[in-house]
Amino acid sequence: MNTTNADLPVNFIQNIIKEDRETGKNQGRVHTRFPPEPNGYLHIGHAKSICLNFGLALANGGLCNLRFDDTNPSKEEIEYVESIKADVKWLGFDWDERMFYASDYFEELYRFAVQLIKFGKAYVCDLSPEEIRSYRGTLTEKGKDSPYRNRSIEENLDLFQRMRAGEFEDGSRVLRAKIDMASPNLNMRDPVLYRILRAHHHRTGDKWCIYPMYDYAHPLSDALESITHSVCTLEFADHRPLYDWVIENVDYDSHLHGRPRQIEFARLNLNYTVMSKRKLRELVEQSYVDGWDDPRMPTISGLRRRGYTAESIRDFCERIGVAKRDSVVDIALLEHCLREDLNHRAPRVMAVLRPLKIIIDNYPEGQVEWLEAENNPENPNAGTRKIPFSRVLYIEQEDFMEDPPKKFFRLAPGREIRLKSAYIIKCEKLVKNEENGEIIELHCSYDPDSKSGGLTAGRKVKGTSHWVSAEHAVRAEVRIYDHLFVNENPDDEDEGSDYKNKLNPQSREILGSCMLEPGLADASPGSHFQFLRQGYFCVDTDSSTEKPVFNRIVSLRDTWAKVQKGQK
Ligand code: ATP
Ligand code: MG
Repeated sequence: MNTTNADLPVNFIQNIIKEDRETGKNQGRVHTRFPPEPNGYLHIGHAKSICLNFGLALANGGLCNLRFDDTNPSKEEIEYVESIKADVKWLGFDWDERMFYASDYFEELYRFAVQLIKFGKAYVCDLSPEEIRSYRGTLTEKGKDSPYRNRSIEENLDLFQRMRAGEFEDGSRVLRAKIDMASPNLNMRDPVLYRILRAHHHRTGDKWCIYPMYDYAHPLSDALESITHSVCTLEFADHRPLYDWVIENVDYDSHLHGRPRQIEFARLNLNYTVMSKRKLRELVEQSYVDGWDDPRMPTISGLRRRGYTAESIRDFCERIGVAKRDSVVDIALLEHCLREDLNHRAPRVMAVLRPLKIIIDNYPEGQVEWLEAENNPENPNAGTRKIPFSRVLYIEQEDFMEDPPKKFFRLAPGREIRLKSAYIIKCEKLVKNEENGEIIELHCSYDPDSKSGGLTAGRKVKGTSHWVSAEHAVRAEVRIYDHLFVNENPDDEDEGSDYKNKLNPQSREILGSCMLEPGLADASPGSHFQFLRQGYFCVDTDSSTEKPVFNRIVSLRDTWAKVQKGQK
């Protein structure tokens, strides 16, 4: 959804809404809904739908409902309902008092079914599920009428009422719409409206043993809530004639509620991940990840825990737009949106992820200087902070090489670097573990005049490194993430095996002894930082004062911005 002015989105759905408002359809009302099935946690694809539905309502002075589509009793759970509410709120949207459950309408849906029977538009069918399938025909072959299709209205009413009363076994009978077994659209070949199923429902308990099908419950739920624009994903395009049929053939006070219109848009697909709830649930249940909110998951709770901000996700949803054709969006765009957001907001701090100890031999033992460091060069109001400098420090292991190639501009024997916001140091000597050759520590000297304001402050050296004072450092765990899958399209069957075989074994690296500047000791879970040269980080929910834990959200290398530049 691209925005040209403050609040009017530009997309084909907005155009439809604009026209409807201009022609006074539904008295000019705009009422949308976000209808999740509570059978899993929401993912970034749902975020697109949430931003679209709530966004269209907001932009057009309308309303958007949250509706749980809980017509399928065996799978739904209260945990999912709660997580969905939390995620929609966190994204920044509000349904006010308009939270509904499709199960709230079971009684009315039943009454509408009785109406359809009375109008001669529905019948009870005793064919088995296999028979129904074989009578249905194929794309090239017409279907065949069920032998029960012409039951009398009285018999249908009696049987349907007894279905509800629990007189028949699960699966032994269904209620079907009487439409057209020769329709070129398979969805219109007398679709099933109700099935018998003895399953406990999370809200209605054991009250019902017949449950309505989605294609029947959904349009009527929309109608009962006076929805005007029922936005859904493309795979429902073939169901639209049935949606309209249901609306047209029941008597639901359309003069009060208006008439909902179904509009389809392309679902969001992202590379290097999967988005189907079934697959995400499998990853959780079979412990491929640590839960729905594992920071590698494309779920909203996973992205939140990883450190994604609601602003960056909304920005992403706006930039990807709303199309009528499916495509795959590059995950680098999502990362780009996060960087754009945090670049202005996240304080810069120093953190050494893989520490190498250095001793400044000519710095007085026991001395500590509190040096001034900039909090965010991108934000003039961010101010400065004091960081301690002392004789023993840590730098990044990769900022030193014993035997460097020509273009290595960091520390090496006899070479100098500047320590960020501090002094220039020179490596004088290295101490190794004699047994395995590992470098234990470096001995350095510093140039006391090279501090900012000093005599040699302007002296140029090629490299600048981040560092932390050993005595003051906060020890922390840092978790570095990579794509959850190694393949760009893990769903792609052509690439052979099951998507689970394409999981990235290196999707999480845990660094257990990182050293952070002391100001980070009490950073609260969810707070964001840029670790200089390392990326954007967020305090994990696992974090405590005893053991701080930081997630790397993204590195600083913006592959998306690079691609964009290359295209210009
Ligand atoms: P799945 O197929 O993964 O089970 P779903 O579509 O059944 O997902 P619902 O809970 O029914 O999940 O979805 C709620 C709303 O979110 C629907 O309107 C659906 O169209 C929309 N939605 C789901 N996935 C996406 C996606 N990838 N992109 C955009 N919208 C989506
Ligand atoms: Mg669904």
